[in-house]
This record gives sequence, C-alpha cells and structure tokens, in this order.
Amino acid sequence: MKLLEIRNLRTYFDTLDGIVKAVDGVSFDVDKGEIVAIVGETGCGKSVTARSIMRLLPKSAKISGEILLNGKNILKMSPKEMEKIRQKRISMIFQEPMTAFDPLYTIGQQFTEILQKHEKMSKAEAYEKSVQMLELVGIPEAKKRVDEYPHEFSGGMIQRAMIARALLNNPELVIADEPTTGLDVSIQAQIINVIADMQKKFKTSTILITHDMGVAAELADKIIVMYSGKIMERGDLGEIISSPLHPYTEGLIAAIPKLNTKKGEKLHAIPGMVPSPYALPKGCRFHPRCYAKMDKCEKKEPPYVEVLPGRFVACWKVLKEKGALLNHESPK
Ligand code: SF4
Repeated sequence: MKLLEIRNLRTYFDTLDGIVKAVDGVSFDVDKGEIVAIVGETGCGKSVTARSIMRLLPKSAKISGEILLNGKNILKMSPKEMEKIRQKRISMIFQEPMTAFDPLYTIGQQFTEILQKHEKMSKAEAYEKSVQMLELVGIPEAKKRVDEYPHEFSGGMIQRAMIARALLNNPELVIADEPTTGLDVSIQAQIINVIADMQKKFKTSTILITHDMGVAAELADKIIVMYSGKIMERGDLGEIISSPLHPYTEGLIAAIPKLNTKKGEKLHAIPGMVPSPYALPKGCRFHPRCYAKMDKCEKKEPPYVEVLPGRFVACWKVLKEKGALLNHESPK
C-alpha cells in the first residue's frame, strides 16, 4: 500500500549564476512500512529530494510536480498544514544531530516539550515516555541520561537520541539524511542496527539518504540511484545488488568494501567527478564517466523506462540489451 507517491518532482534554484536543476523530474513511491534508500554522490540531488518532501527549502527554490502523502498533494498545502505534517506525520533524522538539538535544554526537556505539545501528554507521562524511547534506542542508564544536555552525549549516543526524537510522535514517514556519516565505523554499524530495529518495531516507512551503497544494502528494501538530479536506476535491493544494470549503479556497488578487502588495498572508484550543476553534459549526464558510452549517449538523454517489472533504468545500453526500446530510437 502506497504511503508516498512522488510524480515528476522538479526542484530548481534561481541563483546569480543561473538556474540549478537540483532535482529534475524524479518519480518514485514509498510503500507503508518499507525502507527506500536514495543513493548517490554528493550533489546528486538526494538531500534536496528529501527537503522537498519536508518543504524545508530556501525561498529561491521552485518546486513542481506532485508529492502525494496518502493521496494528498503536500505541495498544495498551506504553510500551517505543512507545519502539522512536519510535527506529526513526517520526521527527519539529520546528519549532524548535535545541531538539531537545543544546547540549552536537556534531552528530556526537549522530548517532553514535543510530547506535551503534540501528543497532549501530562508532564509525568511525557517524561516517562522520553526515558522509554531512550531505552528503546539502546542508550544505557536512560533514567539518568534523560536529564543530561546534548553536549554530554557522544556522537553515537546523540544520533541514537535523534532517532528516538524522530519517532516520538509515531510518524508515518521518517527521512534519515546520511544518519551514519561522520561516525566511526563500529558506531555506524550500531546506528544501522538501531534504525533497522526501530523500523521493525514501529513499521514506519523510511527514506534513507546515503552516499554509501553499503549502508543502503544493510537497511533498504528498495534502492533509488540518483545522479545529477535524475534517477538512473531503481528497483528492489536484492536485484540491484546482485545484478546492477546502470553503469553508475555498477560503480557504486563495486566501491563497497568486501570482507576480503586487504588493509591498504584501494577500493574501486568511479573515474571523474559529478558535473557542475551549471554545466551539465548534453545527452546522458553520466556519459563523461561511463565505460559503456556510445555515440548516442553524448547527444540524447536516455528515457527512464521500466525494463523489468518494478525495475526502472535510464540508460541507452540497458535499453538496447533488454530490448526495451519501446517507442524510443535505437542507439547507434
Ligand atoms: Fe553510459 Fe550511455 Fe548508459 Fe549513460 S546512457 S550510462 S553514457 S551507456
């Protein structure tokens, strides 16, 4: 059952140097209770997609398309309605949790305020629930720590507290924006486990934003691979990881460290850089970095096509191989 349907989302920014098409015609769904990971390098548009859903964008942003939450287009909602959505139905786990908490109040005071305001709990009930939530995300001595200030928490512990805060109001959708970036590898693994456990417990739909295909592979049910504002490939996790179709997806998967990777051994890296949003390449945006580039790739943008049931790809090579050219011109 669909919770979120995103149709042809475009988020453009008017800047002094020109228009930046940060998200350029993106469509996908999130079903109830599933984790959808949006994966790609910095600058691919994944965080702007998340912020478009939250409508947390600067004034220079122009959004079009549809973002349907239980069938209702949130792009048509008033700022007041949107505020309610952000308070009750969609919450966010930020990359830098320390900046998301108020340093002047204890974790308990901040949780209690949210619960009293939005869940209409008494102070005692809200305090009790705050302790329970900290226990649920694995914070030891939660009864003591609930009265501590954010700066008294370590990086891993404050991220756990951020996850607890995001779940306080039983939201329908949680957006986790790079929740493990900047943490030590062992702490990253713990946070991945907390997110997985919480998702199982609360059955909340989750959009996981990450540059790390390894993190996505640990958590997600479905993967969306973005590049320069567009979706290159999307499908179920197992299929994407076992048989990636798009050359960019192949590169991201090849960059995941393997168990037998030796110390000092170089990981696979996709050659080149993400293009400047002011100078996007003609044709396929990935062509300057693609090992499989054909003449056509430099001239014409590949369409985004369902090549197998539930599997969407934008790549001339894949369309040719899968015989999924439909009504599109054949590549040379
Ligand atoms: Fe490579 Fe061409 Fe496919 Fe783009 S369309 S990913 S350049 S093969």
